[in-house]
Amino acid sequence: MDNCIFCKIVAKQIPAAVVYEDDDLLAFKDINPAAPVHLLVIPKQHVATLSDCTDAHAAVLGKMLALAPKLAKENGIDVKTDANGNTSGGFKTLINAGPDGGQEVYHLHLHVYGGPRPWRGLNI
Ligand code: AMP
Ligand code: ZN
Repeated sequence: MDNCIFCKIVAKQIPAAVVYEDDDLLAFKDINPAAPVHLLVIPKQHVATLSDCTDAHAAVLGKMLALAPKLAKENGIDVKTDANGNTSGGFKTLINAGPDGGQEVYHLHLHVYGGPRPWRGLNI
């Protein structure tokens, strides 16, 4: 898609700190992180917004969400439980859709946030 910044990242026309890539997905570090770890997971194929998704997108949406725990483990933000049963760590996933949803880039993306709080600029 012309003039889509995330399509340009997929095409390697602009740089990104890529943390994962396969045939369908790309994951990279958010350029303006709102948490100590802030990653974006995108489909390589352009989809503007979650609002455009239908059953036809169920597989790629599932792949995007299923990638989150793998990325969390690889980036040290997974949920941990110690020998006493105390739980720590963890992460948040988010998809913004449309202006009221806070979407700024119109190429579908899943945010993955994690790391010690407080998180800058993310009051959620
Ligand atoms: P959203 O508000 O859900 O559309 O989120 C868009 C996200 O994309 C923001 O968190 C931006 O910081 C991030 N972003 C914009 N341009 C780039 C880029 N070139 N590389 C990495 N992240 C970007
Ligand atoms: Zn795109």
